[in-house]
Amino acid sequence: MSKIFVVVEHRDGKLKKVSFELLGLASQGGNEAYAILLGEGVTGLAGELAHYGAKKVFVSDSPTFKYYSAEAYSKAVVQIATQNGAEVILTGHTPTGKDFMPHVAAKLNVGLASDCTQISISGTTVTARRPVYAGKATAEVEFLGSGVRLATVRANSIGIPKPDTSKTAETSAVTIDIGQLKTKVLEVVRGAVGRPDVTEAAIVISGGRSLKSAENFKILEDCADVLGAGVGASRAAVDAGFRPHRDQVGQTGKTVSPALYIACGISGAIQHLAGMRTSKTIVAINTDPQAPIFQVADYGIVGDLFAVVPELMKEFKNLKEH
Ligand SMILES: Cc1cc2nc3c(=O)[nH]c(=O)nc-3n(C[C@H](O)[C@H](O)[C@H](O)COP(=O)(O)OP(=O)(O)OC[C@H]3O[C@@H](n4cnc5c(N)ncnc54)[C@H](O)[C@@H]3O)c2cc1C
Repeated sequence: MSKIFVVVEHRDGKLKKVSFELLGLASQGGNEAYAILLGEGVTGLAGELAHYGAKKVFVSDSPTFKYYSAEAYSKAVVQIATQNGAEVILTGHTPTGKDFMPHVAAKLNVGLASDCTQISISGTTVTARRPVYAGKATAEVEFLGSGVRLATVRANSIGIPKPDTSKTAETSAVTIDIGQLKTKVLEVVRGAVGRPDVTEAAIVISGGRSLKSAENFKILEDCADVLGAGVGASRAAVDAGFRPHRDQVGQTGKTVSPALYIACGISGAIQHLAGMRTSKTIVAINTDPQAPIFQVADYGIVGDLFAVVPELMKEFKNLKEH
């Protein structure tokens, strides 16, 4: 039995799905799942964590955590984990998780398995699978020696357990000895929101350079609205100014693993594949039958996206209505 701590994420008063996935994983196999919840005005979220398997929730509800900062988060995680005997610490392989977990590893002087798509925890034996060489191969890694085992896990790779609303968890309010911080986040300026983020969405529809303009992405947005999908983009589309960088999928963008990924007019360069090839089902629409994206696609449509996407959208609408 291991004591597994999950650093949970939330935004706008809502917990992120990857946190539920990790709590489900952490509470399996006789292990004990503990949640670390940091933020301001977040204590009310603790109850929901119990439904997904948290036995106890350590909450630091403080203005210090009003905005995320790697420095403050890593100090808090290290303090809570060491004071309470954590054996494994997990968090999502999100922009936040990717940022603070290396700090935690450095402070604890232990290793970190990042971007895992599978984890198995049996006593002190922790093994993980993680894509390497831009997703061309998968490495299975095992932690050796003693010390806390740390891992970041790709969203959508485990699956969310069915919540058990009868479950409750003990809540422990923690005061963090934060000391002198070197940096302070003064303000967070938000981009436009409304659609699910590509890292969280169950369906992602992405467009490439072939969309030709920011306005033409409307065709993908309309389809995304029918499907409840997130809209992603290749780096070529982002560099051309058609989409903001937060939508970029790939090696220098976000890593996604949705149930369905629809690539529209994207060639399938290795750097793009690095961010989406673990998607459960991949559909590619491309005018070039030789485009590399077809090598990873489960379904391929050779055709002009400007004709194919509206037809698909009509079918999706029909399916939803009937
Ligand atoms: C260090 C580094 C990091 C990188 N990181 C990333 C990254 O994170 N993400 C990323 O995406 N790229 C990344 N790249 C860039 C990558 O190498 C490619 O240049 C980029 O992915 C190409 O984008 P694209 O497929 O939209 O454009 P193109 O390669 O120009 O492909 C356009 C495709 O659209 C098809 N097409 C044209 N018109 C239509 C139409 N009407 N209907 C249907 N299909 C059509 C064409 O046949 C073609 O296959 C990186 C590159 C480097 C060097």
